[in-house]
Order: sequence, then structure tokens, then C-alpha cells
Amino acid sequence: MATLGNPQETIAVLQKYGFNFQKKFGQNFLIDTHVLDKIIAAAEIGPDDFVLEIGPGIGTMTQYLAEAAREVTAVEIDKNLIPILADTLSAYSNVTVINDDILKVDIAALAREKNGGKPIKVVANLPYYITTPIIMGLFESDVPLESITVMVQKEVADRMQTGPGSKDYGALSLAVQYYAEPYIVANVPPNCFMPRPAVGSAVIRLTRHEKKPVEVKDAKFMFKLIRASFNQRRKTLQNGLHNSSELQIPKEKVVKALEAMGLPASIRGEKFDLEQFARLADLLME
Ligand code: SAM
Repeated sequence: MATLGNPQETIAVLQKYGFNFQKKFGQNFLIDTHVLDKIIAAAEIGPDDFVLEIGPGIGTMTQYLAEAAREVTAVEIDKNLIPILADTLSAYSNVTVINDDILKVDIAALAREKNGGKPIKVVANLPYYITTPIIMGLFESDVPLESITVMVQKEVADRMQTGPGSKDYGALSLAVQYYAEPYIVANVPPNCFMPRPAVGSAVIRLTRHEKKPVEVKDAKFMFKLIRASFNQRRKTLQNGLHNSSELQIPKEKVVKALEAMGLPASIRGEKFDLEQFARLADLLME
């Protein structure tokens, strides 16, 4: 049975090891069993699954994952947590802890070794300072992936899930939605963590698309267009794409492409959905 997931046990473990929180590693440990149960249920972890956990902390969620999954590998950057994890996870024979920076781990190799190259599930209460590089890194790499179920800053979860017309809509929304179907599972208030973060959090499940929702000749080019459009979201699309140092597309070319799409020259990129960015990218490539 999992022993962690409440304030008393967490404090006891921290005191036993004289652990000091490191702000630079985004350490906010979960102390709420309901939230932990929700994460495990949302990630649909079953006895056949291999799970990669990013940032196990003192091993709270790891205990829950170990009970539900076939095997868990947890990657933790803070070496001070390694002896603690050896203690809190000693009852579980299906957990491996790796002391490393997740951004440096060869996750595709891990999936080959632990899951025969089949799609893996990633579950994490993420360090907020590297949420985007971790998630985008996973999607853009050749890691076989089924889903990512993660705790992120509430505002970031909203940005991932929203569409055109919302102030939260931007490059992250489009990038995530190109690769996956986002679903916000729960909002989680600061008092579910120790120490309490300054911002609200949310659990979001990103289920990787088996087939991409749009077809585009050059996805990299489409994402350059997307970034340029949202870098200057108050400007018209033709100005945004012209001013971008990465692109510098002649305004006439953009206007011509917009005409072909039946759209006015004054339109802003923030009105575009993924389908329209894909179409625009293909037209501008011609
Ligand atoms: N999973 C634990 C929980 O829910 O209580 C801890 C979550 S805490 C928000 C984030 C964890 O990620 C910390 O343990 C931190 O040390 C670790 N971490 C931060 N940056 C990391 C990185 N680049 N690679 C691996 N782990 C990292």
C-alpha cells in the first residue's frame, strides 16, 4: 500500500533526511491522495503498462504508479532525493530510479529496452520551469508514445487545450494539438502541494494522435509560420510573416495565399486554426 500522499508522512520523510527544497528544480510535492488517484485513473495505467515518470520527488506518485503498472522508470535530477527514493520505494520491485536530467535521457532507448519499442505512457507532476521543452521534446522526438498525463501550471493547461478566439490561444495550443488530443482532467489548488506553489495547477492528459489531424507538406515550416504569427499577435498576418527574422516572406506573397484561401489581407494569425495554418504553409511553399 502507498504510504505517501499526505502532509504527515511527507513531513516525516523530509525530516528524517533533513531534505531542503530546491527552488531551481521546481520542487512542489503532492500531499493529496484524491489528486493522486485522479492522475492514475486519467492516465489509465494498467498491469501491462510501462510508465516513465519524470521527477519523482520523494516517490509519492511513484508508489501509486508502481501499484498500478507492470514497470516504472522514474528520472530524478536532484541527487539528494536518490537515497530518499531508495527508502520510500523499497517495497516495490518494479521501479527503477535514474538520477539524471530528463532532457538528457535517451527515452527512445528506454522504451526499446523496457517496452519492446511499443508506445509508452508518461506521467509526471512536472517542474514548471521546463514544462514546454519536456512535452514538445517528447512529441518532436521519435519516442514511441501513447499518452502524457501531467500536472502543469493551470494557465499552461488552458493554453494547450484552447482554440482560436481565446486570449490563451497561441503557438503552444497549435503545437500540442498537432500531436495530441488534450483533455484537462482536474484543476488542483496550491494547498495540495508542499510547499505551496504561487500558481494554480491542472492535470492534463495529452493522447497522441494515431494520425495527424492535418496534412501539411512541411510541418517545420508550418511551425515557423505559427511562431511568427503569434510573436506579433497584434499585427496582421502579412506584417507578422514579413517582419519575422526567421522568414521574411514578401507581403504580396502572403496576400496572394490569403486570397486563394478566400480570406482578407487584413486578417491576423490569431484567428487561424491548425487546418488554415497547414493550408497557408502549403500555399507559401509553392
Ligand atoms: N512527483 C513528485 C510529486 O508529485 O510529489 C515531485 C514533483 S515536483 C513538482 C518536480 C520534480 O522534478 C522534483 O522532484 C524535481 O527535483 C524534479 N526535476 C526538476 N527538473 C528535472 C529534470 N530536468 N529532470 C528530472 N527531474 C527533474
